[in-house]
Amino acid sequence: MDLALDQATKWLELFGDEIEKNKAYLSDLDTPIGDADHGFNMARGMEAVETSLAQKAPADLAGLFKQTAMALITKVGGASGPLYGTAFLEMSKQAAQTSELNSLLAAALAGIKKRGGAAAGDKTMVDVWEAVLPELAQGTLTDAKIDEAVEATKPLIAKKGRASYLGERSKGHIDPGAMSSGYLFKALLKAVA
Ligand code: ADP
Ligand code: MG
Ligand code: MG
Repeated sequence: MDLALDQATKWLELFGDEIEKNKAYLSDLDTPIGDADHGFNMARGMEAVETSLAQKAPADLAGLFKQTAMALITKVGGASGPLYGTAFLEMSKQAAQTSELNSLLAAALAGIKKRGGAAAGDKTMVDVWEAVLPELAQGTLTDAKIDEAVEATKPLIAKKGRASYLGERSKGHIDPGAMSSGYLFKALLKAVA
């Protein structure tokens, strides 16, 4: 399906709401295997996105994603800022060619992997993106499947990011970036429903 500008705008609004609502929880997830800031990082970033969009209404998808990327890259300290920022920047570039949702998201995932060097199984947000994209393309993605993908990071040993410093001790905890990406995809399902 083609993603329309109003759907994408709704997507970002819903994602921002979810981040704001769950920022303490996301930072709690980042406490045992990180530095307890993921929720606050993302909330600061999504507030900046909201401010940017309120100041200047984007003309098209490419503009919307570009403004989003810039706000996230400049306002989020921490690994998640450049990673989500890259995702939206790649979607912005891709949107110049097509507004087909699956190709936009494929470009975003490729950008995240290139930027962060993580693969599926490394206990990062990439695990959720890798699990979700094929389901979305097949039209079989549900909230429950998103929850499963997030939950599946729990038994893994982290290979990238701060959690990787813990080695074996990173087992038994959900990855915070996987959780925030779960919110991103639930927001998307709602926005395009
Ligand atoms: P920081 O770890 O710098 O404090 P955050 O807490 O905001 O940044 O974000 C941590 C999240 O970022 C992790 O839970 C993980 O999902 C994601 N992450 C960290 N490093 C990478 C990487 N190299 N590739 C993909 N995702 C990563
Ligand atoms: Mg952190
Ligand atoms: Mg940090």
